[in-house]
Amino acid sequence: MSRTILVYAERRDGSLRRVAFEALGAARRLAGDGGSVHAVLAGDGSAAEDAAALQARGADVVHIADDPSLKDYAPEAYLAVLRAAMDAVGPDALLLGHTAAGRELAPRVAAAYGAGHIADVTAIEPSPDGADVGFIRPLYAGKAFERRSFLPGHPWVVTVRPNNLPPAEPLDAGGSGGSVQALPYAPPPLWTAVRGVLRRASGQLDLAEADVVVSGGRGVRSAAGFEPLHALAAAFGGAVGASRAACDAGYCDYALQIGQTGKVVTPQLYIACGISGAIQHLAGMSQSRTIVAINKDPDAPIFSIADYGIVGDLFEIVPLLTSEVLRTN
Ligand code: FAD
Repeated sequence: MSRTILVYAERRDGSLRRVAFEALGAARRLAGDGGSVHAVLAGDGSAAEDAAALQARGADVVHIADDPSLKDYAPEAYLAVLRAAMDAVGPDALLLGHTAAGRELAPRVAAAYGAGHIADVTAIEPSPDGADVGFIRPLYAGKAFERRSFLPGHPWVVTVRPNNLPPAEPLDAGGSGGSVQALPYAPPPLWTAVRGVLRRASGQLDLAEADVVVSGGRGVRSAAGFEPLHALAAAFGGAVGASRAACDAGYCDYALQIGQTGKVVTPQLYIACGISGAIQHLAGMSQSRTIVAINKDPDAPIFSIADYGIVGDLFEIVPLLTSEVLRTN
């Protein structure tokens, strides 16, 4: 079956987010032979710079909205961009990252077009005959998964969880040879304006997109105790996360909290240091590819979901791991 798929190629700080390439990879598979993949880019003058990267990975047409109203993310403006792209392309499906913006925009587009909406997809399984596509999504904080399909007759709107689907690979011939088109976008009235952005000084990778997350819990005991974890994360080129107990105790910022009421991460490698493994923490990390737990209590529940467990003092083990990673890099 061939389909026309539209991808919202989300940018942040003037660059494409990795999840944009993951959505593009899914779009190529869903489009099938004879289908087409469109991508929509928005920005205030620099969006066109990213068109080539999308074309090189299989976007047949890149639709660009460049306008001063798109400098900062505003849901009204970005919804207008997506509506313009939906009208221009008339796709069978729109794919977005399951990011803060994607979560906000997807249901609005679905409501506007009478589309079905499946959110937070972690895997896509086409049926052998290509007639049906199953979208897998976690339920009950990752304790169960459901397979959903769309019923015929409506467009699809799907958000894909970052770090779960394989990103689109570059095409052999160096690109699809597709086109770039300006989107007929009329800025809507905006109800809010961004007056300034106050950045945290951490400068670390986005937790949701990091391949390696080194996470600390109450066992880390202090803000200074997180320093060895930062060193290990830096050795891997990863990011630091935390349990809620560590955040509540003031060891680190709530922006690092992972779990039911924090961020959901699915890195290739998750290293839990001094974290007991409460269900609310597991909700945010249990889908990680490989889980390593370091805990001095051999009965800590985290060991029941860990692929590798190290029973011992994190302050001895973490620096050893860091020097080993640096030695082998
Ligand atoms: P603890 O449970 O106190 O565990 C500390 C661990 O460190 C222990 O296992 C101990 O053996 C080990 N340890 C101590 N010293 C060392 C050492 N030197 N070396 C190695 N190991 C050591 N929690 C979250 O994390 N994220 C959430 O989003 C979240 N949301 C919640 C929502 C609700 C509604 C509720 C009720 C709770 C939520 N919690 C959440 C809290 C959760 O229930 C736990 O209290 C919390 O996860 C415990 O954090 P912890 O594992 O760091 O601390």
